[in-house]
Amino acid sequence: MAVDQKTKNTIFLMWLLLVPAGMYFTYQKYPPHFSGQWLELFAFLTLTAVVAFMPMVINNTPIFLIQWVSLATFLSFGLFIEMVFAQAAVIVLLLRLRVQKDQYFRIPLNLIMFFLVSLFSGFVYYSLGGKTGPSLLHDTNAIWLAALYAVVNYFLNQVIISFYFYAIYKSKESYFGKDFIVETITTFLTLPLGFVLYMFYNQLELIALLIVAFPFASLSIIFNLYYSTEKINEYLQKAAEIGHQMAERLEVNGVIDLFIQKLSEMLPVDYAYIMEVVNDEEELQLSRRIEGGSWLTSDIVKVRKNEGISGFVWEKQKGYLYNSKKDWQSFSKGLLPVDAESVLAVPIVRNKKVIGVLILASKRKRAYEKSQLMIVDILCSYFAVAMENAKHYELTKTQSERCALTKLYNYRYFEKLLTDEFDKLFQFERKVLSLIILDIDHFKAVNDTYGHQSGNEILCELANRLTNLVGSRGTVARYGGEEFVVLLPEAQKEEAFQMAEMIRQSIANWPFILQQSLDFNQHQVKITASIGVATAPEDAEDPLALVRHADRALYVGAKRAGRNRVAEYSTC
Ligand code: GH3
Ligand code: MG
Ligand code: MG
Repeated sequence: MAVDQKTKNTIFLMWLLLVPAGMYFTYQKYPPHFSGQWLELFAFLTLTAVVAFMPMVINNTPIFLIQWVSLATFLSFGLFIEMVFAQAAVIVLLLRLRVQKDQYFRIPLNLIMFFLVSLFSGFVYYSLGGKTGPSLLHDTNAIWLAALYAVVNYFLNQVIISFYFYAIYKSKESYFGKDFIVETITTFLTLPLGFVLYMFYNQLELIALLIVAFPFASLSIIFNLYYSTEKINEYLQKAAEIGHQMAERLEVNGVIDLFIQKLSEMLPVDYAYIMEVVNDEEELQLSRRIEGGSWLTSDIVKVRKNEGISGFVWEKQKGYLYNSKKDWQSFSKGLLPVDAESVLAVPIVRNKKVIGVLILASKRKRAYEKSQLMIVDILCSYFAVAMENAKHYELTKTQSERCALTKLYNYRYFEKLLTDEFDKLFQFERKVLSLIILDIDHFKAVNDTYGHQSGNEILCELANRLTNLVGSRGTVARYGGEEFVVLLPEAQKEEAFQMAEMIRQSIANWPFILQQSLDFNQHQVKITASIGVATAPEDAEDPLALVRHADRALYVGAKRAGRNRVAEYSTC
């Protein structure tokens, strides 16, 4: 909801042209009903300010029930004083709502609005014969007029507010929704208080203010307490729900995504950071950085205990809430962007140990509340459990899919991948699929000469060479002892053959360097490999046949033909 500078300037100019002159006019036309009761006047002003400062929060919308006080003020002192007090109330009200700097234009805007509302409703009242200081007890007509004044005042206010939403924010949403109904009802419920205050004031003077204001203030405090409990309940419910959802996610990234997304829905979050405790609990390292809604690759940022905001939270093992930049700037390590103001920093605790720290920040001052700190704390413990499970799942998955020695995919994974790829072939999602099988020549001799450990070293080095050569064009897997496979989707036989030849050369032309051979000397070992290639659907119509035929090419076409060569399957 951005409002451009020109509109802001116009608003201010309008206020300058309209309000002071309008007030002067009002003072002349309807002089205040005032004969030196400064103390009373001051008491009414105080009451106005106090009530404006204590909005009732219903459905997260603050409702300012100032109308009854202004009714009593109007009836007691007349339009001019009511007008001045309404201006004061606007300022208090906007201070209470903590208007941000770029929203300062709302002050003159509201001042104009309230001025117009005061002026027109006062004008209607006087035009219909209403008087300042009417005797409500003896004159029913006066009561009706006063009530009419209140109604006109309230509805004018609403009409102008909706106009203002439309004109300034270009909001198409109807203003007369649920909030409007709640506000109308509560305002009219409190209006009789205005009459009571006015009549008491006529009888008892200053004491009347206390008698009426005290119960009102107490009720409004109780009401707000009730609503804040409601809100916390709602938050707790949401937190439990998020906890369940996180527990269902299997992958670490999925858990983090969901966590950040839900936090951003619940709280104003401009920046989010997740730090993890690493290096034997020596350091905290930045693992996720989310700014402006998107993940950024993070530089390696590390802090020790008591360093920066996160180091401090780690040391203290409890969450902290900062309302503005000046509260944290002095000990920050400079991770947060320059425009960050409010910060929520919460430790992520698992089994009574801090395993990480969550930092949330907003560009607004005082963006977070104490109760939100508590909720985020609860969410962090759900997050810790979900993360542990997801990490465990990912580890188990890797272990079941990969070979422990070379870290390549294992036979089990390869078999599944092959079946999946064939399914795609059957469903015409793929046209061709090529398979390369490789077996190291005379590997037994290598083991016999340099030892099994050195043999392993060669296998690892070969795995690296294969992975680098194939890259994203296919999948490399360890098929058996010193046998490897490369599955190349969408590779014609010709292409697969070229790839196989490249692999063969990269093995035969570059010796393998051993670090841990039996005699502790560095050795260069030259090895070769024999390779078979087959392509589906031309050579095979099912996964087993493809493997069998590639294997046949390997043994018949390459090994038997003298080794260190590539052979393709041929039916003849
Ligand atoms: P060729 O294939 O050329 O016929 O001869 P080869 O010596 O390689 O014979 P074969 O493929 O039959 O033997 C495989 C050898 O590879 C047997 C075993 O010593 C070795 N080998 C298998 N798995 C491993 C392993 O994990 N580590 C080591 N170091 N050696 C292995
Ligand atoms: Mg073999
Ligand atoms: Mg071999």
